[in-house]
Amino acid sequence: MKKQFAIIGLGRFGSSMCRELHHMGHEVLAIDHNPKKVEAMEPFSTHTMVLDTTDENNLIRIGIKNFEHVIVAIGENIQASILTVLHLKDLEIPEVWVKAQNSYHHKVLEKIGADRIFHPEEEMGNRIAEFLTSEKVLDYIDLSVDYSIVELLATEKIAGKTLVDLDIRAKYGCTVIAIKQKNKVDVTPDPNETLNKGDILVMIGDKKDLRRFQDGVL
Ligand code: ATP
Ligand code: ATP
Ligand code: CA
Repeated sequence: MKKQFAIIGLGRFGSSMCRELHHMGHEVLAIDHNPKKVEAMEPFSTHTMVLDTTDENNLIRIGIKNFEHVIVAIGENIQASILTVLHLKDLEIPEVWVKAQNSYHHKVLEKIGADRIFHPEEEMGNRIAEFLTSEKVLDYIDLSVDYSIVELLATEKIAGKTLVDLDIRAKYGCTVIAIKQKNKVDVTPDPNETLNKGDILVMIGDKKDLRRFQDGVL
């Protein structure tokens, strides 16, 4: 389904979101008060606008109310970010997603009704740290402070064994939700099928348990 998005702030974060959403076929309005940034996004958006979004009248004038989903990616100027979000929530935009600069910014955004708050630098830092500490981790999604989904590479050590042999859920409290092989993904893994070296186990669980499995079994 095609959706309509407005993106305010075309720094690195805002502009990559803009490109990606546009690439996925969504309608994207790209906004920045810097004409150069706006011009650069013209090939990668549906509409563009040079606008200072700290002025509520500007937002009203361009009909921001027609958008269900607005992403605010103004980073360094925290005051401009907060004012913009305040106006958007006053105008009753249902989904306002915001890039936060620090924990104080986050707190204020929460208070004024931001629907989702991102810390891309920290989130990326955590992910990269997780990759760096193990060559067995191929990908990683944070679900919460405690839980995550990881893609783990099956090593020699478990080749020829089954999920039942390894007794993963009982021993480690984690679940294998899919097994990826070269050309296929099995989302209902047969617990009695043998694993091969190079299979990718997609697992969900408590981070400590996943780490325990990774260190003890793989
Ligand atoms: P990134 O790390 O994603 O590159 P950043 O966190 O460094 O971004 P800035 O570069 O400070 O954030 O801001 C992102 C964009 O927001 C800039 O292109 C800036 O011109 C734009 N911006 C700042 N204030 C306003 C405003 N009042 N109205 C519209 N755009 C604004
Ligand atoms: P459970 O009650 O733990 O769900 P079960 O009695 O239904 O297991 P099986 O489904 O045959 O029995 O699985 C036996 C054991 O194999 C499970 O207890 C679990 O440790 C492990 N296992 C099976 N499937 C998975 C899976 N997808 N992810 C992790 N472990 C699994
Ligand atoms: Ca930055």
